[in-house]
Amino acid sequence: MTKHIFVTGGVVSSLGKGLTSASIGMLLERRGLTVRMQKLDPYINVDPGTMSPYQHGEVYVLDDGSETDLDLGHYERFTNSQLTRNSNFTTGQIYQNVIEKERRGEFLGKTVQVIPHITNEIKQSIGKVAGDGVDVVITEIGGTVGDIESQPFLEAIRQFALDAGKENCLYIHLTLVPYLKAAAELKTKPTQHSVGQLRQIGIQPDILICRTERELNASDREKIALFCNVPFPNVIEERDKDFSIYEVPLSLVEHGLDNLIVKELGLATSTLDLDDWRDLLHRLRNPETEISIAVVGKYAEHKDAYKSIYEAIDHAGMEHHAQIRIGRIQSEAVEREGPERLLAGYDGILVPGGFGERGTEGKVDAIRFARERNIPFLGICLGMQCAVIEFARNVVGLNGANSTEFDKDTPHPVICLLDEQKNITDKGGTMRLGAQTSELNTDSKSFEWYGNRMISERHRHRYEFNNVYRQQFQAHNLTIAGTSENDSLVEIVELTDHPWFVAVQFHPEFKSKPTESHPLFSGFIQAAVRRIKSSAVPQNS
Ligand code: GLN
Repeated sequence: MTKHIFVTGGVVSSLGKGLTSASIGMLLERRGLTVRMQKLDPYINVDPGTMSPYQHGEVYVLDDGSETDLDLGHYERFTNSQLTRNSNFTTGQIYQNVIEKERRGEFLGKTVQVIPHITNEIKQSIGKVAGDGVDVVITEIGGTVGDIESQPFLEAIRQFALDAGKENCLYIHLTLVPYLKAAAELKTKPTQHSVGQLRQIGIQPDILICRTERELNASDREKIALFCNVPFPNVIEERDKDFSIYEVPLSLVEHGLDNLIVKELGLATSTLDLDDWRDLLHRLRNPETEISIAVVGKYAEHKDAYKSIYEAIDHAGMEHHAQIRIGRIQSEAVEREGPERLLAGYDGILVPGGFGERGTEGKVDAIRFARERNIPFLGICLGMQCAVIEFARNVVGLNGANSTEFDKDTPHPVICLLDEQKNITDKGGTMRLGAQTSELNTDSKSFEWYGNRMISERHRHRYEFNNVYRQQFQAHNLTIAGTSENDSLVEIVELTDHPWFVAVQFHPEFKSKPTESHPLFSGFIQAAVRRIKSSAVPQNS
């Protein structure tokens, strides 16, 4: 029988529900349980694929090609939970499914209503991740308790315990306990109100996790316990972590959360093993070198737009004992001010994915700078396309070369649409999406780092390297280091006469974990570390 944990949030958004859920998943896995993670998002978009990074941050892509909320990135980085299309549902998807059923006549003439039809659909969606061999499903409800749009989800999880048995369900509510400077104390009232709202709709939280910037003392916890009708030991502090998000699971263990969950759900588990996790935090705290990496993107000022990339850089830093300062550089600023001024101090340059013309010339300038100055460079998706454009213009001599995404009439469409993409008009879910296999050229840096000829990486793009130009590029020493299985699509390009210049059409950042840094990020960061070491003046000279 699968047990269910529901994680809700109250008081304010951005409390770190995703990280907390991921941490809970990780702790339960490390006690020997099989865990599945799921996020329910109350917005009406069918998926976040069509949303701007300004609105929603990064779109996280799964192996099966679903475009999901960035919290699923935390789930994959912290746990081994298999994520699929069933791991992220939105209001839009739930309604779409119900409306399709209605059109097929499946409701047999009944009036279709929020309760029971929408709530039934939500419950079925939760049930889809449970099943044989799954000990615990953790379902995170997006949004904040009290939002109109999250009501059907909360109603559905209330009903869920009626169907599955309360003993098989656990409600965890994450709230904020703010510190008021004027009063010089922590305030529990917002938590009381938030729990009050949950109780009004029939959900009594079993465990409260209180986000706070100061220590929650026993009398604060007693007060919260009393007013919120939660046993005292079930009020858990989650203090802000300024140093690293990877501290969160350890701090939850210190406050006894894993024992509490196991006890509440009556789970039989093994003892917790966190040695490797403690080891990676130790490395993070005791770096041997410090390097700086510039991420040159259109949304550089938005901290969540390239979330998985920043994480993947950190993972490689931990592996190479390097503390990494990440400079978020807007590509349009590079256009205005030139690469020398903005990029000269960096040990590595990364150009991430993106859509639309704005800022692309700045990316091309940044890549030229990295190529000419021998600065380690990693290009991802649009970053690879811009690297190809830069090479075409400045090395091959194809003036005006461009992607047809930015210039339909370019004389040299070195990046263009595949025929099968040409007649697609819908924007949602129509790109080349999800895991695909590539074959590596054994004479390449990529092969050296992957250590395998066949690799599987996730895609999210429409445009491709134009094969008409392959030979011309190769004649100028651009290595085609990876292609799709039938050799029809270029997936990786590299420069040999450069310390590290690798650009990939896929998104390696989605497969990096703190405990297992991605080979390409690892190679890139090692090259940056080498660069700083070789430029360091020996102490005794
Ligand atoms: N805009 C480009 C394309 O659609 C790149 C996409 C990306 O970087 N994810 O192909």
